[in-house]
Amino acid sequence: MKRRIIIIGNGFASLFFIGAFLALPIMPIFAFFLRRLYSRYDITVIGNGRFVYFPAIPEFITGKKSKDSVTVDIRPWLWRRNIRFIDDRVISVRDGGRTVVTTKSRYGNDALFIGTGPAFRTDDIPGTREHTFSPCGGPDEMNRFMDRLNDLQQGIIYVGFKLNKRDGFVAGRAGQMYECACLLDYSLKKRGLRDDFEIHLFSADIAPGETGAVTDRLQERGIILDYGYEPAAFVDGGMRDTDGTFRAADLVLFTAGIRAPDWVEQSCLPVSGGGHIDVDKFGRVKGLERVFAAGDCSNHENPPPWVPHQAHMAQLRSEAAAKNMRLVLKGRQPSHHYRFELSCILNMENDALWLHAASDNKPPFWNLFPRHSPKLIGLKNLFERLYLFYLRHL
Ligand SMILES: Cc1cc2nc3c(=O)[nH]c(=O)nc-3n(C[C@H](O)[C@H](O)[C@H](O)COP(=O)(O)OP(=O)(O)OC[C@H]3O[C@@H](n4cnc5c(N)ncnc54)[C@H](O)[C@@H]3O)c2cc1C
Repeated sequence: MKRRIIIIGNGFASLFFIGAFLALPIMPIFAFFLRRLYSRYDITVIGNGRFVYFPAIPEFITGKKSKDSVTVDIRPWLWRRNIRFIDDRVISVRDGGRTVVTTKSRYGNDALFIGTGPAFRTDDIPGTREHTFSPCGGPDEMNRFMDRLNDLQQGIIYVGFKLNKRDGFVAGRAGQMYECACLLDYSLKKRGLRDDFEIHLFSADIAPGETGAVTDRLQERGIILDYGYEPAAFVDGGMRDTDGTFRAADLVLFTAGIRAPDWVEQSCLPVSGGGHIDVDKFGRVKGLERVFAAGDCSNHENPPPWVPHQAHMAQLRSEAAAKNMRLVLKGRQPSHHYRFELSCILNMENDALWLHAASDNKPPFWNLFPRHSPKLIGLKNLFERLYLFYLRHL
């Protein structure tokens, strides 16, 4: 009998999980036929069918990327792998993980992978939903931000982030917001309007006076550093400080700390102190049989404090989870761990930095590339093109 596997979500974590779970060293066209002739697994993905390549969203600011260029209809990719797709939204997981409840139905499984991505702690600062935009909200929200930006001929723009560090690692988006601030500087200069705008970078998670390569790049661009600052509330036309002072802002681009989506709380899934799905070092959801999770919805066991939520980390975690699920389905114990690695190219359009840290101190790509060079932008674009080509055609 085929084992029924359900995968929740069609983002980075789920697609990397599938890639590792079904690893076949042959051409896709053969794999297509082979998987229909013989497969030990009956795999179902539940999601919205649209994959979003989030790392390219900051480039909406320069006009180099758009909703169409970063979105992929993932259903053909799943079909080529003989994976059933259900266009629905999961609202609960019950019976120790064996039942997945969606808005329209319920599905049983022998093993479950959860890759539903993040929710944001937008209640931490009142007014976040009403008065700020975020690149993490996806292409439509970023387009709304761009419409507002393009209407302005002068003004004050605040770019900021808040991190959730309650689970001992960096659940939030810092690098992406630095990138947005630098790209705003670039694009306003290109429009000949830079002198008519103030750009501020704020976060209570950066110590006032902090130095380093990123700070140097922000200062080179005349970006005002409000390190250590957090508003008491976002309000119409700006922000209110804790002492009641009003700060004017024409636009705020802000991203809140990350936690697991709300429906997780209505499930049998354990939730960590920081609000993530609680998993062990094998990617297993704690206390449940044959249930795994990876990506932005889940925490880590004993993480180094610098590790962030990233597509790259989602890849490392999902690959380990896929190997462990295969072992568990064969009645064996999971044995695959994953490395912790922060790896991210900060694209400033006229310059780029490779931000990197690894638990085993391995450099990225055997140190073949410089850590600070505008040429890294081409490399970042190459990674993106290759991945999107793979999703669209292979
Ligand atoms: C602006 C921006 C720039 C970034 N830049 C980088 C970068 O340069 N490098 C890097 O490594 N990372 C980057 N990241 C982070 C990276 O995009 C995330 O870490 C990654 O997307 C996490 O993958 P995930 O699968 O956990 O979540 P997602 O990619 O968000 O996927 C979640 C999936 O679950 C689905 N889903 C959600 N809820 C449900 C539900 N209830 N039922 C069914 N399906 C559901 C969603 O539709 C989606 O398909 C960036 C993120 C942003 C926002």
